[in-house]
Parts: sequence; C-alpha cells; structure tokens
Amino acid sequence: MRKLEKNRVFEGNLILVNQNYPLRCTIAAKNLCPVFENQSQILMQQECAGMLDKLFQELNWSISEEIYQLIVGVSGYRTKSEQEEIFDDSLKENGRAFTEKYVAFPDHSEHQTGLAIDLAENREEIDFIRPQFPYQGICQKFREKIADFGFIERYPKEKQDITKIGAEPWHFRYVGVPHAEIMKRYGMALEEYIVWLKQFSFPDHSFIWRKGDREFKIGYVEAEETLTKIDLSEYGKQMQGMEERAGEIISYNLAECKELPNIQISGNNVDGFVITYAQ
Ligand SMILES: [Zn+2]
Repeated sequence: MRKLEKNRVFEGNLILVNQNYPLRCTIAAKNLCPVFENQSQILMQQECAGMLDKLFQELNWSISEEIYQLIVGVSGYRTKSEQEEIFDDSLKENGRAFTEKYVAFPDHSEHQTGLAIDLAENREEIDFIRPQFPYQGICQKFREKIADFGFIERYPKEKQDITKIGAEPWHFRYVGVPHAEIMKRYGMALEEYIVWLKQFSFPDHSFIWRKGDREFKIGYVEAEETLTKIDLSEYGKQMQGMEERAGEIISYNLAECKELPNIQISGNNVDGFVITYAQ
C-alpha cells in the first residue's frame, strides 16, 4: 500500500498550474539542470530536461544543419520573484491588457514548475515575451515530434477559452509519456485532460493506452483529507523497492526504462493523483 500525504497532490509532471490553480510546491534547486550546453541560465526539472535533450538529438539526426543553431531557448524555470519582475516590467512597457494575456501572475506561471520552456527560432532579434516559433520549417518539425517525448504545446489558439491564455506557439510544457500523446490524439488541453482522467478510477477502471508493444494503464485516485492509500499490490515485486525508499522519489521515468514495468504517480494540483503504469 502506497501512502501519500495530501501535499503530494501539488507535485508531479501532471500538475495543472493556471489562473485558478497556483503552484503550491517548491521546486528544489538540486532537481533543476540546464537544458542547452550553451545556455546555462535556462533550467528545467531533470527528467524533462533529459527528454527535451533526447528530442533535440533525434531532430539533429534528421536535418543537415545543427539544431542548436536553429532553435534556441528563451525562458525556462523562473523563481517567483523573477516572475514578479517580468510581470511588473511588462505592465510598465506593454500595459495591463497585453500583460494579462501573455504573462501569468506570480505563482500562476508554468515557468515556476520547471516543466515549461519558451523556445524561439534563432533570429537576430528575439522577443522575450512573444518569441517567434512558426508553424513551418524546423519549428514545425520540432512541434510534430514533441508528443513522443512527453511535451505539449500548452496554449494553442483554439484552446484560448479554456486555458485563458492567448495563443503561445512558443511555450511547451512537459507532462510525460504517454500523456502528451493521449492529449494530442483527443485534442485536449491540460485543463480538459485533468477532468477527463477522473472517469478512470485506478486500478479497476483505468484507461488503457497501447503504443507498439507497450501497454500503459492510467487511472485516477481522489486525494483523501490526510493520507491517500493507493493499492499497488498487484504490481508485485517491482514496487517493493519503491515502498522502502518511500520519502522523496515517487516518480520514475517511464520512457527511460523501456524493458521494465514501471509506475509513476503525479498529483494533478487540483484534487487527486494520476497513476501511470507501463509494461
Ligand atoms: Zn512560456
């Protein structure tokens, strides 16, 4: 039996951070690392930085130019005070309407999660708030591959009413494998996906997703007032080590470990947990 404290709801790859749901966990500095060799100031959480690196490497194989010359990072992880500064600067420079459309309030920005990044097509002039990342050429090639590596385009134009954020073709969010693919297939924004998942209660009514010879079982568990108990007994031996380690590690990288059955638990930052089991 896995016991999760209430505040675990606010951690994990699937946390929904938006106007209604502020970030409520602290991202430890030791979990952050640079995404690009030549841009050490752009940080993301380790797992997602690793996946982004893999995605770039795969793209690099398929093109004749060096990918890092074509696409550059603009902004990754931000502290709360950095977000405040960006928000205040934009208010002064661009006014309230523009700022509220494109810059999130402090604690409501995905950039504070360490799971989001703004990217730009490499040009002489790069706009910090609204970088160019067109739906063509290398940027589009990148966009077409992101779901395989657990990323989504978080603020597409057609979801503005749901996300309450203007179209941001440059902003990408890590949600993990295979969630990004499912969201893409069914055309769901993260707001919609979090609600949709709640119909699949874990373990008996989990959603089954197949990819090649792998099967993923995804289910939801509502958080209890204090401790939420999640019965993982059917996953047998592989869970024992995890139970013993208890403490910090609740997340395993499903994509890293193709040969092993694997399990991942993420809070949704709203009211419960999403369990992802891969075999
Ligand atoms: Zn962004």
